[in-house]
Amino acid sequence: MSRPRLNKGLVQVYTGNGKGKTTASLGQAVRAIGHGYKVFMLQFMKGSKDYGEIQTAEKYLPNLIIIQSGLETFVSKENPSQADIDLAKQGLATARKVIEEGHYDLVILDEINVALDFNLIDLDDVLEMIKTKPDHVELILTGRYVPKKILDHADLVSEVSLIKHPYYQGVAARKGIEY
Ligand code: ATP
Ligand code: MG
Repeated sequence: MSRPRLNKGLVQVYTGNGKGKTTASLGQAVRAIGHGYKVFMLQFMKGSKDYGEIQTAEKYLPNLIIIQSGLETFVSKENPSQADIDLAKQGLATARKVIEEGHYDLVILDEINVALDFNLIDLDDVLEMIKTKPDHVELILTGRYVPKKILDHADLVSEVSLIKHPYYQGVAARKGIEY
């Protein structure tokens, strides 16, 4: 029996300086999978497997594939390493291939906005990817500092703004909450 496909996939952006962008995209993934859709998430600038969502996908969600294309260390905006740049570009190439193949209904490009802001990847390449995506594929782009030109091509943009975060009361990142 054939599985459901989206009639018209849109482009969503989750941006802003508050917590909730990556987790919003994962919420969309959980919802989509419940209706039989397949989800592919590519995490730019991340290389640690110590994220709960990676364990969840591997153990419990065969229809959620998560790939990382970054180092474990933080990227310097002023002075990114060649490996940071190479991995981000490889990530974009993988994302473009996955989107073009059209096998996944929802493709999440996590932190791609930051990779653009840090100039690890070219804005024109990302715009081209958005413009040429198959009709039935829904795209989600997450991360702070989204470039204006991306917003021009998005159908949905939500900005999460920082009002409070426990980090500013000295609470370190917590397992299962922040990662
Ligand atoms: P989450 O992954 O929890 O949905 P996010 O994707 O919105 O968060 P990022 O901007 O990607 O957040 O930040 C990465 C990490 O920093 C996450 O662990 C997130 O929880 C945490 N974080 C988010 N906003 C803030 C903030 N304003 N101050 C400190 N830490 C934050
Ligand atoms: Mg995030």
